[in-house]
Amino acid sequence: MISTASINQLNAQSMSNTNQSGSRIPAKGMALFAKDGNFQPYEFTRHAVGDNDILIEILYAGICHSDIHMGRGDWNEIAYPFVPGHEIAGRVVQAGKNVTKFKVGDYAGIGCIVNSCGQCGYCKADEEQFCEKGMVGTYASVDYHHHDEITQGGYANNYVISEDYAIKIPQNADIQKIAPLLCAGITTWSPIHFSNVKKGESVAVAGFGGLGHMAVQYMVALGASVTVFDITDDKKADAIRLGAVRYVNVNSPNELEGLKDQFSFIVSTIPDKYDPMLYVRMLKENGELAIVGMPSLANTPVIPTTFLAFAARRKVYGSMIGGIKETQEMLDYSVARGIYPEVKIISADQIDEAYRNVIDGKVKFRYVIDAKTLK
Ligand code: NDP
Ligand code: ZN
Repeated sequence: MISTASINQLNAQSMSNTNQSGSRIPAKGMALFAKDGNFQPYEFTRHAVGDNDILIEILYAGICHSDIHMGRGDWNEIAYPFVPGHEIAGRVVQAGKNVTKFKVGDYAGIGCIVNSCGQCGYCKADEEQFCEKGMVGTYASVDYHHHDEITQGGYANNYVISEDYAIKIPQNADIQKIAPLLCAGITTWSPIHFSNVKKGESVAVAGFGGLGHMAVQYMVALGASVTVFDITDDKKADAIRLGAVRYVNVNSPNELEGLKDQFSFIVSTIPDKYDPMLYVRMLKENGELAIVGMPSLANTPVIPTTFLAFAARRKVYGSMIGGIKETQEMLDYSVARGIYPEVKIISADQIDEAYRNVIDGKVKFRYVIDAKTLK
């Protein structure tokens, strides 16, 4: 783990023989070197800490199913070595001279967005995830603010980020459980609030994994009556324990009986091929199906438009994480209400096994890497 003292020493050394803007920051992480490879230690560098930047010593990083999709090239071809990780919780170890939001020693978090153009309508409306120039993603993304270098993610010991894109984590937070809020939390929080889910409503969650178990907790906290859909009976007791009123195994057709026209809102987090019309038909008139699950392009589910027309004003929309302001609101609310993911802490040498377990549905509910274990 890199310490403040060693970073200061490194910076002092290199400031004497490089330009005034400081030197690049050495980092070490776990990377995939090919789409079908295993994780291996990888040393690389991050851009220097600018005047508005903070350097975060990463403490914990969550494993999102998106990391797996991206590493396998499910959505597009990416460059390797690839360091995933966009659910990051850590501590500030260095702050640029213009930084006001953080001081050294504060907890800080990073989600999926590390920069954006800052100028377009979306950025000005705090919806950087839809930036017209493209948001700079935490990993596998072209950082057009830093010479088009490709970003590397949070399965690593540090990250350099502008303070404007870092999330403040209250000092009283349960820091081991914070990281998954930065993606699983905000991705479900955002459509729940966009669709204005209210107390007493019948709502549902399709796909009860990392994202799904956060959606259940947020909607239970709002006072909604939550039904959970998944493909086995394995997580039934967990759903009820988290406050759901019903659990449906979609592979048992009799459990689906009587559910047509029942829900005002459904969020689908499903990462694999499925029939979205199953859920459209379970919406009430004017009900909304928010799609956040992102199966591989080869397996992407299709909505037949003719069937949708017959579905009479049920609405379907996609949703992508959430902006920085909304992420901060979600995080503050979650900590204040004690709403956290259920996590299993693992070491860096267990990432390959963790990936297999996520794909096989064996995790309840989120793996989180302890960054101390990076070699
Ligand atoms: P997980 O693997 O943790 O959870 C997925 C859950 O869906 C599992 O419980 C799985 O069951 C269940 N499932 C699989 N197939 C079906 C099916 N046909 N019907 C019902 N349930 C099913 O994944 P995450 O929660 O981390 O991510 C979910 C998806 O969301 C991924 O595609 C990810 O890329 C995407 N995502 C999208 C974001 C966005 O901004 N839109 C942000 C973050 C993630 P089992 O465990 O039994 O396999
Ligand atoms: Zn994610």
